[in-house]
Amino acid sequence: MQSDSKREYAARRHQGATSIDSFDEENMSETDQNPSRVRELTHAINGRLVKGTSERFGDVFNPALGSVAARVPLASAAEVDAAVAAAKAAFPAWSETAPLKRARVMFKFKELLDRHHDELAELITREHGKVFSDAKGEVTRGMEVVEFACGIPNLLKTDFTDQIGGGIDNWNLRQPLGVVAGITPFNFPMMVPCWMFPMAIACGNTFVLKPSERDPSASIRLAELMKEAGLPDGVFNVVHGDKVAVDALLAHPDISAVSFVGSTPIAEYIHAEGTKHGKRVQALGGAKNHLVVMPDADLDQAVDALIGAAYGSAGERCMAISVAVAVGHIADELVERLTPRVKMLKIANGMDPTAEMGPLVTAAHRTKVSGYVDAGVKEGATLVVDGRHHEVAGHEKGFFLAGTLFDNVKTDMSIYRDEIFGPVLCVVRVPDFASAVELINRNEYANGVSCFTSDGGIARAFSRQIQIGMVGINVPIPVPMAWHSFGGWKRSLFGDHNAYGEEGVRFYTRYKSIMQRWPDSIAKGAEFTMPVAK
Ligand code: NAD
Repeated sequence: MQSDSKREYAARRHQGATSIDSFDEENMSETDQNPSRVRELTHAINGRLVKGTSERFGDVFNPALGSVAARVPLASAAEVDAAVAAAKAAFPAWSETAPLKRARVMFKFKELLDRHHDELAELITREHGKVFSDAKGEVTRGMEVVEFACGIPNLLKTDFTDQIGGGIDNWNLRQPLGVVAGITPFNFPMMVPCWMFPMAIACGNTFVLKPSERDPSASIRLAELMKEAGLPDGVFNVVHGDKVAVDALLAHPDISAVSFVGSTPIAEYIHAEGTKHGKRVQALGGAKNHLVVMPDADLDQAVDALIGAAYGSAGERCMAISVAVAVGHIADELVERLTPRVKMLKIANGMDPTAEMGPLVTAAHRTKVSGYVDAGVKEGATLVVDGRHHEVAGHEKGFFLAGTLFDNVKTDMSIYRDEIFGPVLCVVRVPDFASAVELINRNEYANGVSCFTSDGGIARAFSRQIQIGMVGINVPIPVPMAWHSFGGWKRSLFGDHNAYGEEGVRFYTRYKSIMQRWPDSIAKGAEFTMPVAK
């Protein structure tokens, strides 16, 4: 497969244009500079890049420039059906392939990801807007799941009990489910797909990915690299699309399971619809993550942590910190120290090596975030730093919004209740530790949380009492490593299994118990009582 993006990248590399150090406006791709020449992206079905046939397209923006960089085809139900058919046809042979051989494809894929690390990061920055170094970090976190999937022979090893009684042995198998669908959000166009398909495929499933239509190019590049790694055609397919494609996947009789990551309302919908159609579903939703600053915390560290976790990736992370909970007398000093740091954030095109924060993903999203800031002011919060009117020189059409800081936020305000998903940090003041825990446990979201303290007793009490899926003690963004598992509680996750790690193996396999004995140990005569070990 040779995609447009690959050719374009190769051409630009030939011109010496892709090194982060050599970035400047002249080195942008032709389509970035000339919006009238817009690339048309393809699906990846059965080992081929195929043009969309639905005649419906979505615009993919370069958010730093505010211009359309590509058109993404939005699949019809028939195109989804073609991808599912390819995956279904590939399943018998792939599921029978020895786990060690499946692992070898993953090893090769990992090597290719290493080699194309910068290229993938650049694709992400150009469509998502996050800064290049952050995009590189995203690629690394995705690669770590691939590394974990390389251990699939060991992960699929199961338990065996010799002689449970009467010449019978008992063991279990973990068998693949069939065709799995993955539906992913815009904010991690490489990492979140990598939470899913490497694990599912290593477990012996075949896969249809429906990535976010807002930054779809990385997923096509991943499909190309999987093919180059030796994956048989049809095992991994990518169809772009919107609700039409998602609904076709949810209702498709040949899909066994659905992994979803995105906002909470859609996660709820996916879980309800998918399970209604008899599928196994894990649907990870949105978040409102708090960082508690105790009076005994190291304030320098807490401020650094808040700046990075609230404004990194322009707040477009499901593990971003959007609420600082200031406990007791520390509140005034915390706000005083945060204020100049928020004002000083270096906001620029993500390909600029000095940028700390890039633009938001689309103009519509910027309008939504800005609307929340308006609402916060109306609702009576103190607007300490206002990022609504910010222009980046030379990027006047870009979707930029600067860092925003609110103080004296109350829990009934929309800026506290809703996931804003932008560079907006709210400071809520509470009198003591117990009130901080109580406030956080009342929130409907329960993805990530953090507590900054130098008191071991507080750290322990916090970890045990807080009703949140991922907890950091003096760690602002506690995203579990690939061999642990990712997932929130309450309205941040619908379903029974977390993503990746051993939870991923459990989700993508079905447990089977086998009992066996051979004729020479079988007692004569029928037994009518409950079988027990003898
Ligand atoms: P989104 O819910 O708008 O979209 C996610 C996916 O659902 C996309 O592929 C999209 O095409 C599809 N979709 C959108 N509307 C749909 C509809 N009406 N019917 C069917 N499918 C639909 O989310 P987003 O804006 O792309 O991503 C940001 C959200 O994702 C945030 O809420 C963030 O917290 C969440 N997120 C959660 C995690 C996590 O692990 N919990 C990780 C990353 C992002």
